[in-house]
Amino acid sequence: METLFDNGVHKNLLLEDFGHGEMVQANVHLIVDSGKGMILDPGGHKVFKHLIQEIGIVIGIDNLEWIFFSHQDPDIVAAANGWLMTTKATAIASKLWLRFIPHFGVDRLVIDRIKGIDDTGTIIKLGNTDMYILPAHWMHSPGNFQVYDPVSKILYSGDLGASLGQDYTFVSNFEEHIKYMEGFHRRYISSGRALRNWAKMVRQLDIEIIAPQHGAILKGKEMVNKFIRWVENLETGVDLMDEVYKVPVQRFKG
Ligand code: FE
Repeated sequence: METLFDNGVHKNLLLEDFGHGEMVQANVHLIVDSGKGMILDPGGHKVFKHLIQEIGIVIGIDNLEWIFFSHQDPDIVAAANGWLMTTKATAIASKLWLRFIPHFGVDRLVIDRIKGIDDTGTIIKLGNTDMYILPAHWMHSPGNFQVYDPVSKILYSGDLGASLGQDYTFVSNFEEHIKYMEGFHRRYISSGRALRNWAKMVRQLDIEIIAPQHGAILKGKEMVNKFIRWVENLETGVDLMDEVYKVPVQRFKG
């Protein structure tokens, strides 16, 4: 467990990465304010029981109030049923996915505790703090949100800022780090236009840390600004893929 922020009442914890083998590395974050907790993108079945245990130790399982799903992917929502059955928390996700998430198997008893977020985002209360649920659509999912915590000044950016293959937790050299982010962003993030709109929005916030769901954390104002400048000028997704829309000629090789 890594502590990203702690002022006694408010804590931001990066829970240990239990994802191994074939699973993409994923970060799970816990925000605690005045003894109440919010878990972000808790992942699938393999990590579920470890996380429940850790949260039990840190705040007590009944103090988990919010489960945040940034989007609909399995590395985020696959264990939704377990989370809802084991805790008293309310889960929130884009309205777009409310009828899709139940396909992972969500019990009728708890299904009403998954609540939809409008495209415009929202503000929720955790303990005594307002948490901002920011629109981040098309980065990468069409119904996608991020969390901004104004106390720790951490922006939880979901798949934006994701990096794969590096062996460190904090980025120390941004220019060197680009190679671990670039491939993912060019293919998984839908469009540069979304990135430019996002940059305009987050420049209004006071951000100390950008914490993505996969890979290393960007810490410090300089690093944060470098990242925003980088994504703002990036061509991604549909910007790059005009050429692939052709009837295939190659046979599947497996
Ligand atoms: Fe995803």
